[in-house]
Amino acid sequence: MKYLTEYRDATIARPLIERIKRTATRPWTLMEVCGGQTHTIVRQGLDELLEGAIEMIHGPGCPVCVTPLEQIDKALMLAARPDVIFTSFGDMLRVPGSDCDLQQVRARGGNVRIVYSPLDALEIARRNPDREVVFFAVGFETTAPANAMAVWRARELGVPNFSVLVSHVTVPPAISAIMQSPDNRVQGFLAAGHVCAVMGWTEYEPLAMRYGVPIVVTGFEPLDILEGMLMAVQQLEAGRHIVENQYVRSVRREGTPAARMRVQEVFELADRKWRGIGEIPMSGLRLRPEFAAFDAELKFGLGDVHVNESSECHAGEVLTGKLKPPRCPAFGTRCTPERPLGALMVSTEGACAAYYHLAKYRESGDPAAAGAVS
Ligand code: SF4
Repeated sequence: MKYLTEYRDATIARPLIERIKRTATRPWTLMEVCGGQTHTIVRQGLDELLEGAIEMIHGPGCPVCVTPLEQIDKALMLAARPDVIFTSFGDMLRVPGSDCDLQQVRARGGNVRIVYSPLDALEIARRNPDREVVFFAVGFETTAPANAMAVWRARELGVPNFSVLVSHVTVPPAISAIMQSPDNRVQGFLAAGHVCAVMGWTEYEPLAMRYGVPIVVTGFEPLDILEGMLMAVQQLEAGRHIVENQYVRSVRREGTPAARMRVQEVFELADRKWRGIGEIPMSGLRLRPEFAAFDAELKFGLGDVHVNESSECHAGEVLTGKLKPPRCPAFGTRCTPERPLGALMVSTEGACAAYYHLAKYRESGDPAAAGAVS
């Protein structure tokens, strides 16, 4: 399979691993920002293979995991309304809110539909003019262009019964917050290739300089990640700290200008709370005032909501690399993918889910238990 199997070739991976070990004169601590990269690292055991040379800290790059509880609870309120068709990507349906999840609201009669694109949600709105259709617009810079496009199209087509519940976050302020944390241990970052495919990497350059950390734009397959690790370690050993691009087959320095332009047209920067982490200044996107008619929070008068966060879930510590999932007291016992206490156990990009499926794989020997092991 072009662009897949050649990036999972063990005969190339082994010498790369040896090269990283030979290059590292001391153990280095790197953070992969994206949950997709976390799953590859854990599933392929790259962290174990590189023990002593690199310690990987799993970053807050799972969009489902960092969606604040307030927004989940607002989604639940909207989904329960009889006049609303609530649409979302499938990952959000089992994320626990204060009292229940979207799947439970659907079981009680809520009209909750899984869509694969916000434009599908807009189409549902066009076909159901007598109902309000709300799309749950979550994610990082990767999903923002399509969500911006749906809002822009809704205005162009004049679809008054379409709106979005926005919970967008952006990566660079999170990198700043991690580096400014007093107990930070991160010495280098693997930046998420798909985020940079949209936004480019110019925003990362001042961060690399200000905090003295290498940032390597990296893909998602095992060889991508090993190469990104090697590039970061080479920089650290040489005392350099610049942005480099491992993912040259997909990412250009300027990203995708048309997508960036549409995002900037529809959204503006805003303070945003991250679940488990708290508020990070100017780390999110909200609709610009000219698109206020499509803002579900304004349309339905959703103000502040009182939330009830599980005291058992250590998501914040996992998302900032202070706790590895198996060390959470609830891991695999009171918290499983079937009965999750936190989003990290249910999301396909969640770190806790990655470790849980790997543990099941090791117990059973069945590759399917670990997800798509190649
Ligand atoms: S194992 Fe479950 S309870 Fe523990 S941090 Fe992960 S999601 Fe939260």
